[in-house]
Amino acid sequence: MERTLVLLKPDAVDRGLVGEIITRFEKVGLKIAGLKMLQVGKEHAAKHYTEDLAQRRGQHVRDLMIEMISSGPIVAMVLEGVEAVEIVRKMVGTTEPKSAAPGTIRGDYSHVSFKHADSKKMGVYNLVHASGSVEEAPVEIAVWFAPEELHDHKPGYTKHTIAY
Ligand code: ADP
Repeated sequence: MERTLVLLKPDAVDRGLVGEIITRFEKVGLKIAGLKMLQVGKEHAAKHYTEDLAQRRGQHVRDLMIEMISSGPIVAMVLEGVEAVEIVRKMVGTTEPKSAAPGTIRGDYSHVSFKHADSKKMGVYNLVHASGSVEEAPVEIAVWFAPEELHDHKPGYTKHTIAY
């Protein structure tokens, strides 16, 4: 059993896709363990988009992402399920919308390329953040949720799937 962090970024909220995206996760039987809407400042954003992102993608991308994630309200959620980290990444699709497969959230609702974003000096707007690894997930969850904001409920449908 795993928990993973999902953020519906400002572009998802702005485009009115919150309900559709959450519905996709519910339909595969992932349990919502925590959910809230909030807007954070740059200091908080920097705890999420850490130095690691600068090392992987460049300081420029980290700065853009900190700016982007703090630019408007977002929806933060914690999803729980069997190997949830991998399942949610599969549903979200690859980072670049242009390359994200149809059927994934990024592939179905966005399309731009890294090349285009870089030429415009803007971040790639790809709607969703999802934890990248089992090690990363609890660290990221702690950036956004206090322990008492997460729930150990056992919704009826989990009897047939998660079987706690
Ligand atoms: P992911 O969100 O798929 O885990 P990363 O952690 O590597 O991907 O990157 C964080 C976010 O930074 C991406 O979701 C995307 O919004 C943005 N990003 C990554 N690379 C670029 C780039 N070359 N140009 C603009 N934005 C980027």
